Amino acid sequence: MGITDKFNELISNLLNSLEEIQAAAIVDRNGLIIFSKIKGMDKEDDKIGTVTATFDSFIERIKKDFGAATNFVNVTLVDENKYLFATAGLEAILTVIADKFISDNSLKVFGSHVANKIKLILEGEELINLDIPPIIPILSNMREGKLPEGNFSVKVIVLGAPGVGKTSLIRRFVDNKFAENGYVSTIGVDISRKEVIINKNCIINESIWDIGGQAQETAPYRKRFYQGANFVFLVFDITRKSTFAKIQRWIEDLDNSSQQLSFILIANKTDLDNSEVTLEEIKQKAEELSCPYLLCSAKTGNNVIGAFKYAALKFLEQY
Ligand code: GDP
Ligand code: MG
Repeated sequence: MGITDKFNELISNLLNSLEEIQAAAIVDRNGLIIFSKIKGMDKEDDKIGTVTATFDSFIERIKKDFGAATNFVNVTLVDENKYLFATAGLEAILTVIADKFISDNSLKVFGSHVANKIKLILEGEELINLDIPPIIPILSNMREGKLPEGNFSVKVIVLGAPGVGKTSLIRRFVDNKFAENGYVSTIGVDISRKEVIINKNCIINESIWDIGGQAQETAPYRKRFYQGANFVFLVFDITRKSTFAKIQRWIEDLDNSSQQLSFILIANKTDLDNSEVTLEEIKQKAEELSCPYLLCSAKTGNNVIGAFKYAALKFLEQY
């Protein structure tokens, strides 16, 4: 897939995800439009002129106000519209035009997410998920009074074949560390704790259960580990297809212990380029399991906090 196709898919997903968003453009730092898309373009032709003119006038402003800034996310209200400007790396800026009724927070959360994807595309990163992940709509509602108040406890269990990086993902999240030589294989279970502070009135204490890869064979113990769990990480290593194929077995194992659980499929080690699993296969598996997926790297930290934060926010959804 070429860069333009990637931009097209990404921006289409953005336009489709929020009714209030009308158009988006990717502009380089000199104000040249690299890519633009307007919702329902073929139907309302007069809109194109208006939006293009608006982009033009704002490009002058981008150059003037933000020319030297390396990083910004800015929302401006002008007449009937809100405009978002967000840096997409050093090369580009994302501009989004939305209806004035959109919340600033929504526009910023969706915009920053997409801007970061644009940066990765421009940097030539291959394995990029162009869908808007489910955490984004949840995050965009965060500051709108919909969150419950209090201290909550969430039990997260991390499952997957030996060596996929379960312990590494947890250590990255809890201590922000990564050990190149890995960790001693977990025997039984290791429990770590970390607070996820959503805001000062809403704190989630996660207890994270690192279930040893051997658990699949040590049947008598594992049911006890699963008890009371709220959330499950299903981890595989993109460089070993066998670990991807085994995901199903973990689900079946959990099914037997019948409880209400949310899942996320974690494709780990995305910093490595010898992947044996395609993005299509990952998407298809996630669809089969009716759960979201995230491309992560415990090594670089990519999406690791996001995954644990998703677990916390998913838990809050029930309130
Ligand atoms: P576990 O058995 O699932 O707990 O796996 P570990 O966390 O012990 O990791 C197994 C090996 O994979 C170790 O050598 C880690 O350093 C390595 N590893 C884990 N996560 C990543 C990652 O995201 N990228 C790379 N390149 N290596 C990783
Ligand atoms: Mg381990």
